[in-house]
Amino acid sequence: MAPPRVRLAPSPTGYFHVGTGRTGLFNWLFARRYGGVFILRIEDTDTERNREEWVDGIITAMDWLGMTPDEGPYRQSERLERYQVALDALWDAGYLYACDCTRDEVLERTKDRPTPGYDGHCRDRGLPRRGNALRFRTPREGETVVHDIVRGDVVFRHDTMEDFVVARSNGEPLFVLANCVDDRDMAITHVIRGEELLPTAPKGILIWQALDAAAEGEAGWGEATELPAWAHLPTLVNEQRKKLSKRRDPVAVESYRDQGYLPEAMRNYLALLGWSPPGDQEKVTVETMIETFALEDVNHSPAFFDIKKMAHMNGEYIRDLPLEEFVARARPWVEPDAEAAAGRWAPQSAGPPPWPSGRFDEAVFRRMAPLVQERVTTMGEVPGLVDFLFLEEPAIDEGSWEKAVTRDEAAVPMLEAAVAAYEGCDWTADALRDATVAVGEQAGKKLAKAQAPIRVAVTGRTVGPPLFESLEVLGRAAVLRRLRVALERVRGGGAAAGD
Ligand code: GLU
Repeated sequence: MAPPRVRLAPSPTGYFHVGTGRTGLFNWLFARRYGGVFILRIEDTDTERNREEWVDGIITAMDWLGMTPDEGPYRQSERLERYQVALDALWDAGYLYACDCTRDEVLERTKDRPTPGYDGHCRDRGLPRRGNALRFRTPREGETVVHDIVRGDVVFRHDTMEDFVVARSNGEPLFVLANCVDDRDMAITHVIRGEELLPTAPKGILIWQALDAAAEGEAGWGEATELPAWAHLPTLVNEQRKKLSKRRDPVAVESYRDQGYLPEAMRNYLALLGWSPPGDQEKVTVETMIETFALEDVNHSPAFFDIKKMAHMNGEYIRDLPLEEFVARARPWVEPDAEAAAGRWAPQSAGPPPWPSGRFDEAVFRRMAPLVQERVTTMGEVPGLVDFLFLEEPAIDEGSWEKAVTRDEAAVPMLEAAVAAYEGCDWTADALRDATVAVGEQAGKKLAKAQAPIRVAVTGRTVGPPLFESLEVLGRAAVLRRLRVALERVRGGGAAAGD
C-alpha cells in the first residue's frame, strides 16, 4: 500500500474527549504501521462554540499521549477563502441552490411528514446566492454507498437524504463542506473517525463527486481526486451501555492526566476500545501495537469504556516502572509547586498535597516509594499514602480513631506498651515488628489487632502502607511523640495536637 495520509479533525469545543483520544490513536497507529503521515486538523469554523484554550488542550493532550502529528495543526479558520472557491465552483456548476426558509417555516411545513428534514421548498425558486443559505441539491433518485472498512458497505438512499446546508446565509461554510474540501486538499487516503459521523459520510461523498465534476468543467476548481477509504470506529459506551456523554461521564483526557494516569497506560487502554492485539495479551507495548494494528480487525459493536479496567491497567504500568522513574514521575503530585516553579506540568484539578509546601523530602519519600508503588492505581493516590511522613501531625480520620482506639479497651495499654518498647528497641522494621508482636501478646491480641491503634496514632488511618516500614522511615522521635499525643487524646478525651 502507498503510504497513507490520515487525519484527526477535532472541533475545539471542550476538553479532549477520550473518544477523540481513541480516534487519534487509531489514526496514528495506522500511519505508523504503514509509514504514512498523521495530520492534525482543527475544525474551528464554528466561531460561536470554539475557544482557543481548547485548541491548546488538543495539542497538549496529543503530545501527552505520545501521538504528535507529522503535519499540522492546520486550522480551518485559516482556510476560509479556499472554501469560498469550492462554493463558487459548486454554485457555478449548479450543485447548490439558495434558500431563505427559516427553521420555523420548515418545521411548520414538514411537521406531519414521516421523514424529517428539509422539504426542498427553495430548490427551484432561483433565489440569488448572496444573503441566503446554500443547500446541496441531493439527487432525488439513487443511492450513495459508503464502503467502510469496519462496517462493510453502508447504503444511503437519496430519497431519505435532505438537501443539506453547506453554507450559512452569512457565507460561512458548514462543517460537511470544509471537511470534504480539506480531505481532498490534504490528499487524505483514509478517513478514520467515530461512528457518529457515519451519517455525514454520504453527504461528503456527494460533495466530493460534485467537486470532481466541477474540476473537469470550467469552474476553476482543483484536480479530480480519488475518494478516501472510510473506517467508522465503534461508539464508546458507559457501564449502562449508553453512549458516553460529556455531562454524565468522566470523558476528559485532561482529568485522567490530573488523576495520575500514565500516558502509556492510557494509550494502551484506548487501543483496546474497538481493537485487540493478537493473542490474549491486552497489555502490549506501543511497538507491538504499531506492528499489528489493522483497520480490518476493528470491531463494529459498541466499545465499553471501562474505567475500572483502565485503572487496573494503570496500576500495572505503575508497578512496572523502575523505582527512580516512579519517584520522578510522582513529582507533579507530591511537589506540584516546585514543578510549576520549574516550568513543568503539575495537575490542575488534583488539589495541593495535604502537607505544607516545602515539607516534602524526596529522600524520605524514596525510602517509602517501593511500598507505595505496589499499592496505587494512579499517581494521584500517592500523597494520601505518604502524607503522615510530611505532616507535622497525622491527619486523624475520626472513623479510624473510633474503631481502633475508642472502641478497643486494650488500645490504651497497647499504646503505652508500644511507647515503652519503641523507646529501646532497634529502629528497623523487623525489630519494630518483633516489639509490636510482644506488645500484642501481653494484651492477648494478634499482631493485626495490636497494630491498629498504633497505626491510627502514627498515620491517622487504619489503612496505609506496611506499618513497620512506615515507622522506620518516620523515625523514633516522631513516632514516640505521636503515640504520646494519642494517649493524651484518649485520656483527656480531647483533641490531638494539630486538629
Ligand atoms: N470535526 C468533527 C468532529 O469533531 C470530526 C470530523 C471528521 O473526523 O471527519 O466531530
